[in-house]
Amino acid sequence: MNSTILPSICGEANVEHTPVYQPYLAGNVSRYVNDCLDSGWISSRGEFVPRFEVAFAEFIGANEATSVANGTVAIHLVLDALGIGPGDEVIVPTLTYIATVNTILQIGATPVFVDSVGSTLQMDPVAVELAVTSRTRAIMAVHLYGHPCDLTSIVATCRKHDLLLIEDCAEAFGSKWEGRHVGTFGDAATFSFFGNKTITTGEGGMVVTRDPEIMKRCRRLKNQGVSSNREYWHDILAYNYRMTNIQAAIGLAQLEMAADILTMKAKVANAYRVGLTRLPLRMHDPVGKVTHSHWMCSVIVDRPQDRDPLRAYLAQQGIETRPFFTQAHTMPHCRVEGDFPVSASLSARGINLPSYPGLSQEQISRICATICSFWR
Ligand SMILES: *Cc1c(COP(=O)(O)O)cnc(C)c1O
Repeated sequence: MNSTILPSICGEANVEHTPVYQPYLAGNVSRYVNDCLDSGWISSRGEFVPRFEVAFAEFIGANEATSVANGTVAIHLVLDALGIGPGDEVIVPTLTYIATVNTILQIGATPVFVDSVGSTLQMDPVAVELAVTSRTRAIMAVHLYGHPCDLTSIVATCRKHDLLLIEDCAEAFGSKWEGRHVGTFGDAATFSFFGNKTITTGEGGMVVTRDPEIMKRCRRLKNQGVSSNREYWHDILAYNYRMTNIQAAIGLAQLEMAADILTMKAKVANAYRVGLTRLPLRMHDPVGKVTHSHWMCSVIVDRPQDRDPLRAYLAQQGIETRPFFTQAHTMPHCRVEGDFPVSASLSARGINLPSYPGLSQEQISRICATICSFWR
């Protein structure tokens, strides 16, 4: 269902409700899930797990992929497999979802925050270079809201200082830098399949890496560190981060529709671009030789004082939105001193509009008309 009619509490005209996101659960999703139920393979063993992993790796152009329970543990697993820990610094944008930073703290390493570039919203490669110290082990590149980071500059910084590159691609399924899918540039990369991500498994995640040794370590760590040739023999501290066959069944069906989902999302983004001209705001447009997958269709209002009133006005009309993330370095548990003015300004001015693939042209027109009427 793309939208629902909510009865108005005070008996006025009904307001059509448009959520920020809805998963696209068409195609073989139900059939594959029912296959799991019918066969009894509902846990983390079953045919869909390897099928989803192989198909995912092929889609993004990676050698291998291993599935996990969600996008957060994917990052934690990769940090562990790469041997990052206490005493190590990991450079990360302060404008990101909290999971990127929490996993760095959970592994015992120190997040070193950097500011963002205003036009792309991505981590500032100049700030990254300046943040490198003798303790820096890795750069965590987050491809925020579907636009890739400047991977050419970031890869160059990694080479120059012998640093690991981890890509948090949770928001960037379908995003490309110079024609190559994100997640294939770093030492390891992670994806999320939460219900509002571009392809979903309900909860779920994926790890890719080009290094077969790192992949082997990820597979072992996510599966209780069990020995491959001795039953119940566990000789490393490990986790249960496995994905279920049911999740993988949904994922495989999603992957079969991925090209369609990405096309629909591109159409949604373009419809907003056409409908939202000559207003005191800008869209999150692609910059450079990139494919922007438009996980979220974002607008950045010129004046920060317009942001919350515009969101409230849209909410009154049944249009759900989200503000941009709050800078991670301002959260109580990861607070550090520092001045990151570009991301501070973006964080205060950004709004994510309804961005799901099933949005109709009529719904987008209504959202654009409502935004225009806010300033009239
Ligand atoms: C969604 C997201 C995650 C975490 O993924 P979950 O599957 O929700 O655990 C990590 N990083 C970013 C940037 C995200 O958007």
